[in-house]
Amino acid sequence: MSTPILQVQDLQVTYYTDAGRAKALDNVSFTLNSGEKMGLVGESGSGKSTMALAMMRMIKPPGRIEGGKVIVDGTDLVTLSDGEMLKARLSKIAYIPQGAMNSLNPVMRIGAQMTDAIRAHDSSISNSAMTERCMQSLESVDLKREVFKMYPHELSGGMKQRVCIAIGILLKPKVIIADEPTSALDVVTQRQVMETINRIQKDLGCAVILIGHDMGLMAQSMDKVAVMYAGKLVEISTVRQMFTHPFHPYGQALIHSLPNLDNKGVLQGIPGLAPSLLRIPSGCAFHPRCSKATEKCMVVTPRLQQQPDGRFVSCLLYEEDKVTA
Ligand code: SF4
Repeated sequence: MSTPILQVQDLQVTYYTDAGRAKALDNVSFTLNSGEKMGLVGESGSGKSTMALAMMRMIKPPGRIEGGKVIVDGTDLVTLSDGEMLKARLSKIAYIPQGAMNSLNPVMRIGAQMTDAIRAHDSSISNSAMTERCMQSLESVDLKREVFKMYPHELSGGMKQRVCIAIGILLKPKVIIADEPTSALDVVTQRQVMETINRIQKDLGCAVILIGHDMGLMAQSMDKVAVMYAGKLVEISTVRQMFTHPFHPYGQALIHSLPNLDNKGVLQGIPGLAPSLLRIPSGCAFHPRCSKATEKCMVVTPRLQQQPDGRFVSCLLYEEDKVTA
């Protein structure tokens, strides 16, 4: 079996705030193979964006990575120096941020922002070679070469998002993390941006992690879905497994809350609120909202374990004989 291009092992992130210690990522582990696309879903505050930032080594104080590994193509990014990590960004792992409109510098031409990204990795490259590489990258996301000379305010929201993708792929990364890349766009532009991401993924053969709330988008374009709750992964399964037969009660609630012909499009919310990361419930963090919770769920913390059908689930219902308190 081939070695996964991405191995995240026991990744832990904590924020030290005046209100206390918030465990934003609690021993998160998963793997992705080259060419695999994984959707990362969960309510706001579940830790999805923290996971992306931790993988990019972009967690800012008062947060810090407290343990674990992020191995991309054999290199553990957590142990790299800041200078080495600067080089690993874009060449090994790239991040397409939420709200592209805000991530581009409004007073710099697109070309200058792209060439800055390349020069940070390779100061010896000639200007003409660098320009050509940027132009090719723009074309590969269906933008015209003229965009190179334009300012962000001259572009539509969809075009700005494409520019962010073009910057992300300049150095052919092995892993691309896209954080809600279509959230601020209209439906037609959303579809076009997703088609671009899918095509880029095929061209580069890289792995993609798509962070989002839109389960429909996940079902259409991802291979796997990982569900986060209170800083932990609670289920990782194929798209088919997730949408036809989710195991984890939170995954089940997410799927049942989608509009369909049976519920006539009436959304059924998940009862209760996601917990504050400052006050995560004991045992299984989902127990106050879980319709299947037992007394044991209040005191025993389930572990993410592989099931006979290959998926991973963290729920006591699926680890009857293996539980340790
Ligand atoms: Fe529900 Fe218990 Fe499973 Fe948690 S461990 S999801 S509370 S059944």
